Amino acid sequence: MGQLSSVLMPLLQLGALGFTAYVFIYSLAIEYLLRPSPDFQSRGVFPRKPTAVALITVFSILLLILMVTWMRLLQVIWTNPGLMPLGKPSSEKQEASQKYFEKYDAFIADYDGDPLWCNKCHNFKPDRTHHCRELNRCVRRMDHYCPWAGGIISETTHKFFIQFVFYGTIITTFTLVPMAYFLAERIRLLGSKPATWIAATALAGIFCIFTGTMFFTTFWNLSINYTTIETVQRGGVHNIAMLATAGTSRSKNSSRASRSPNQQPPTVLKEVQRDASRSYVLFQTQPFDHPWDIGTWPNLQSIMGYSIWQWLVPLKMSPCIQHDDIRGEFGWAQKVLDMAAEYQEDRPGMQIHLLSDSRRRNR
Ligand SMILES: [Zn+2]
Repeated sequence: MGQLSSVLMPLLQLGALGFTAYVFIYSLAIEYLLRPSPDFQSRGVFPRKPTAVALITVFSILLLILMVTWMRLLQVIWTNPGLMPLGKPSSEKQEASQKYFEKYDAFIADYDGDPLWCNKCHNFKPDRTHHCRELNRCVRRMDHYCPWAGGIISETTHKFFIQFVFYGTIITTFTLVPMAYFLAERIRLLGSKPATWIAATALAGIFCIFTGTMFFTTFWNLSINYTTIETVQRGGVHNIAMLATAGTSRSKNSSRASRSPNQQPPTVLKEVQRDASRSYVLFQTQPFDHPWDIGTWPNLQSIMGYSIWQWLVPLKMSPCIQHDDIRGEFGWAQKVLDMAAEYQEDRPGMQIHLLSDSRRRNR
């Protein structure tokens, strides 16, 4: 059902867009503004060539940008949606390999200190991965399933989705304002209310509200580094397993701020010894502490990129899909680092790998 609607909805929208473009360019700009009929002219509608040319030019450019962005979004949705591979159907959590997670200094874990498990995909879930009901697959940094845009919004498609709704907001606003203005003028001068004009104005209005709302909510969530799923689960706690070594020397370079008298010590659920060389400390975050909020600007850059061109042009993939940082799947919030530092401070000889200087240098 979901997948069918993700084909039907875009087709429906494409139809609405085509109809609105026809009314805007042909009925409004050409027939009404560029060369109004002698009958129209006798009732006060005179040719306004510069206005007509300006409307057609800007609309065409905006339409082209929107279509390119949309095609790029659909292309990534179809070819690289960020799905996790399926495990063997017989595979159980206890036997499955955790090798993928061993490279990381810290990862989201369950109450045993294991990575989160999906029993539908029979595989572990990297941080922020969610099982998508529509696709019946686990999706990396899943935001939501969007039949309107044509499929899954995830770590690979989020940037192009935001660009799509951004350019959608611009073109619908640019359509709505002249449509409404000249519709009012036409009613005043000619006393006629063509159904096509009313329909095009209404469509532009509806989609303007829709894309505008989507753009502002998505952009806001991005600035605080929440996915739509995470906003729904807001207030919950996260268990984070951190690789630790019981060394001999105490870390001198702790980054924590000193604990204020009434501040709670960090919640540590347990310490897990995996094998002779690997042990983990299992922390639990406080409710409402978001583990991936690394600051407004870095939050935005992790999806949008590092230059104005990357923000505007739907070409380059988001930096956050790299996963080449051994500290974790995504950057950790300062609160997470503070929690670890505070624990380490109270445990002389304990070294949390996430806090080691060599890791921090390339942050
Ligand atoms: Zn799954």
